[in-house]
Amino acid sequence: MNFTIENVLIAAHDAYATVDVQVIDGKIAAISDDTLRAYAADLDVFGTTFDGRNKLLLPGFVNAHTHSSEMWQRGIMSAFPLELWLAELYDFAPIDTEKVYLSALGTAVETLLSGGTSVVDHLVLIPGQEFETIATAVRAYKEVGIRAFIAPLIQDESLTAGIPSGESTQTHEPYFRSTAATLEIIEEAVRQFHRPDEGVNILVAPTGIQLCTDALFEGCIELSDRYNLCRHSHLLETRAQEKLAQEKYGCTAVEHLKRIGYLSDRTTLAHCVHLNDADIAIVAETQSTVVHNPLSNLRLGSGIAPILKYRQAGINVTFGCDGASSNDSQDLLEAIKIGSILHNVTDSDYQHWITPRQAVEMASLGGAKGLNLADKLGSLTVGKQADLVLYDLTNLSLLPRTDPIGLLVLGRPTNVVDSAWVNGKQIIADGKVTTINVDDLRQELFNRSQWEITRKSQTVAQIEAHYRTVMGL
Ligand SMILES: [Zn+2]
Repeated sequence: MNFTIENVLIAAHDAYATVDVQVIDGKIAAISDDTLRAYAADLDVFGTTFDGRNKLLLPGFVNAHTHSSEMWQRGIMSAFPLELWLAELYDFAPIDTEKVYLSALGTAVETLLSGGTSVVDHLVLIPGQEFETIATAVRAYKEVGIRAFIAPLIQDESLTAGIPSGESTQTHEPYFRSTAATLEIIEEAVRQFHRPDEGVNILVAPTGIQLCTDALFEGCIELSDRYNLCRHSHLLETRAQEKLAQEKYGCTAVEHLKRIGYLSDRTTLAHCVHLNDADIAIVAETQSTVVHNPLSNLRLGSGIAPILKYRQAGINVTFGCDGASSNDSQDLLEAIKIGSILHNVTDSDYQHWITPRQAVEMASLGGAKGLNLADKLGSLTVGKQADLVLYDLTNLSLLPRTDPIGLLVLGRPTNVVDSAWVNGKQIIADGKVTTINVDDLRQELFNRSQWEITRKSQTVAQIEAHYRTVMGL
């Protein structure tokens, strides 16, 4: 669809400009500024027009790390650190693809309604239905129309291998699926679904050093090189993982991943809470991207990632909600807010603090860079894809009129997204998703769940004592 958004506010250097933005064939074709108003008549002849008055137009953000099916357990997870939390999560994870479908829809909708136009879904696969899980998520994201980066979460070691052994000798069950079989599933998913031009991308996504062998990482590197795929993993989310890396490799996880060639300018690393200065230098040198998941890091007690240090080292940083069981929402604006101001307590030099405009750039261009798409997405630039979000500045939560970006990031914006387009296709209009029936989605989420008060994870009961010993608790 071709269209023009007229008289809309955009960020311009340190100020704002009122412009017309024209989209043709899914791309930003022209941006007329005030000084070119005389030529604006030329911009109006194509397609539909949208009234941009009292609205702010920003490039769509990237929800750069989440796990959609965690939506089914939001609000109920125990107050546990990651290793025990994961045990509980997997004991109650959904095992039917219809639930995967619905939570992918829900994740897409909540991302869109909080400013995101792209989502990186580190997708938990149902054992025995791995390929179907991926196909289901693809279907859901295509229906909504959000730009999807599906990163099937893979591992080849069983859960207990993710906890350091400490003084004891631990043996672990072998993982139920071979490394080769896992890699075959990913390759088949790439062949069938990786269609960047249609807004569906498959990533290689070994979950992290805690549950993956080098053989799995190497297989992923090979697929990534052969099919030009981005790479996505968790990295050093917890102290336990830091300890485990030393046990496993005798060096830090970052040093090891560099040695095997996993880090690159199309590698995004979720969390990065426990990196030392040498690790930071490696991440910078390899041009890997850090995905900051502040809410999850707080919820699971993982720690505060040294984001200001990363930025000073020149590392590209962007934001993720992380799965909805460790957050427990998919509100990207909330993640951006907390992910910015959280760091003011870590550095008394306020000149290092993240400003709202920097946060917006991290969430948009930073996300695009991490996905190796900085030339196509992430800014209002002529020639880039039209992944756009229009915010209603007359919404109560954005009033009175002050600095629109300041209030969008630092305030508590509620129902502020008026319209959103992905690849020039409108998928939010008047604050409502146009592509799927959200009332039906609400009904399905309601019907397939129930209020729960208590539940007990058997796996947690089995591993908690060892976890406490090894972590000195
Ligand atoms: Zn995660």
